[in-house]
Amino acid sequence: MTRLVLFDIDGTLLSARGVPRIAFGGALEEVFGTAGPIEGHQFDGKTDPQIARELLRLAGRTDAEIDRGLPSLWECYLGRLERTLPGRDVLVYPGVRELLDELEARRELVVLGLLTGNIEPGARLKLRHAGINNHFQVGAYGSDHERRDRLPAVAVHRARQLTGVHFRASDVVIVGDTPADMSCGRSLAVRALGVLTGRYDRAALEAAGAFRVFPDLSATAEVLSAILS
Ligand SMILES: [Mg+2]
Repeated sequence: MTRLVLFDIDGTLLSARGVPRIAFGGALEEVFGTAGPIEGHQFDGKTDPQIARELLRLAGRTDAEIDRGLPSLWECYLGRLERTLPGRDVLVYPGVRELLDELEARRELVVLGLLTGNIEPGARLKLRHAGINNHFQVGAYGSDHERRDRLPAVAVHRARQLTGVHFRASDVVIVGDTPADMSCGRSLAVRALGVLTGRYDRAALEAAGAFRVFPDLSATAEVLSAILS
């Protein structure tokens, strides 16, 4: 039995308490001259390029203009994130460190990975500041594809390249806090485990296909057995 466990970041492992959102908005202003209607715009469950495109389209930018500016946007965003994140606490949710340690202790059974809408350097920056970056061997990121539902296949492919193991859908578990996390692996029939540390409730995550939902990840033994079942 081998498992590939893919964690979402924001709302699942940690909260950077609004810092990335401010950095994102500032970078959009700096590079495109507008952050569009960012106030109240929903970020969770989406990839970084998807959020940028939504906001900039709403501000009247064409896709060609958006695509031209994205490399500068990421550079600017990462610079701002790096400057603003260290001074503020990153909240790691209850049970996260313990669960990661337990999974890591089962290295012969479990490959730990990320499945996140963050662009890769942004993801790694947040995890470094939380002190949990070294746990994750593989990942699929917003920088790999604008659509989250394309990311599970990317993660499975990378895990196979790394380990030589061909993970079947039944071997893969996604852990996340949004309906998009629960449904993104549906086309591959991947299982998804929900946590309520983000903005969504149990009913929303179950409706999106979660096979188990926990209030947070602090019930280590129970969560482990759900992941390994
Ligand atoms: Mg999330």
